[in-house]
Amino acid sequence: SLPLNPHIAALPPYNAGMSIAMARALSGRQDIARLASNENPDGCSPAVMAALASSSFEPWHYADPACTALRAALGERLAIDPGLIVAGNGSEEMIAAISRAVLVPGASVVTTVPSFGLHEIEPLAMGADVVKIAMTPDMGFDLAALETAIAAEPRIVFISSPWNPVGPGLDHSSLQRLIGAVQPGTLLVLDEAYFEFADPGAPDGIEVLRDSGIDHVVLRTFSKAYGLAGLRVGYAVCSGLELARVIAAAKTPFNVNAAAQIAAIAALADEGWMKASAGRVRAERVRAAAALAALSFRVGPSQTNFLFFDCKGDSSRLAAGLLKQGIIVKAWREAGYEHYLRATIGLPADNDRLIAALQEMVAR
Ligand code: PMP
Repeated sequence: SLPLNPHIAALPPYNAGMSIAMARALSGRQDIARLASNENPDGCSPAVMAALASSSFEPWHYADPACTALRAALGERLAIDPGLIVAGNGSEEMIAAISRAVLVPGASVVTTVPSFGLHEIEPLAMGADVVKIAMTPDMGFDLAALETAIAAEPRIVFISSPWNPVGPGLDHSSLQRLIGAVQPGTLLVLDEAYFEFADPGAPDGIEVLRDSGIDHVVLRTFSKAYGLAGLRVGYAVCSGLELARVIAAAKTPFNVNAAAQIAAIAALADEGWMKASAGRVRAERVRAAAALAALSFRVGPSQTNFLFFDCKGDSSRLAAGLLKQGIIVKAWREAGYEHYLRATIGLPADNDRLIAALQEMVAR
């Protein structure tokens, strides 16, 4: 009889990747290839482990709630005022904070389908109505439909570029088209979680949006190319100080823990490790995409550390078959996309395992 918040009670579940413990239990194997959560197969920079080991942080003290040192380091790296940056417990906390800061019940939000689950879940949690623009038949952004939806003046537009789960990134002219459609009163949130994996020459949303004159937030994370998914650090780069202030007010106060702040600063300082790792992932992405295409799977044009492909049947059956062989991937569950599977680019041996398992299943 307890009245619950109806917006929260009705939320669709977040489709998180399977845990390694569960995968071991279900497959009976120890050597699990973890290709479901877009983590970095190379791990993280050794400088991160060294910084954690040598730091004198004191777990009994609360960490800096403003992440002052991390935001200063980011401000310097990105040549922006640290006052425009809000650090989060993963960029997912920033998606929640932006939604809390901007949305009221009945507000409208535009995103894509298929989409990163939280771009829909967090607005729904605030009682917003979410309009989802489908990918084109050739697995690209439907720019015309997005332009129309954006021009209808939603309160927020959430777009990931490069796009989770489909893979492509907006090129310069496509990004400009979408920016041009944004009206005053709409916040464009460009989620660049996979920015570092894009091919050289891809637009840098922070630079492009800086001079756009529109209200915007660019999201970045340490979870992917920097390999710190388990520590939870992401950040929002906001177009204005007042927007940043209100997003910061909407986060939890001590959101980024002390170890995570130290690790993120060390990771940022070792840009060389991250770039080398992203380069290895790009090379493996090209190789794995060609192998899947050779098996007649239709593969999204990926600028990320994963591949999204049409397996022409129920992808959860294929995922269950792969799990038996100790490979975790993500079967897509959004309505109309249940025949798509998303597989993270792993180490070459993991990718070989995935390709060999799929070859065997296709041959059967
Ligand atoms: N945005 C996108 C597009 C993502 O794919 C993810 C993670 N899968 C996130 C945000 C959240 O990442 P994190 O909270 O680890 O920074």
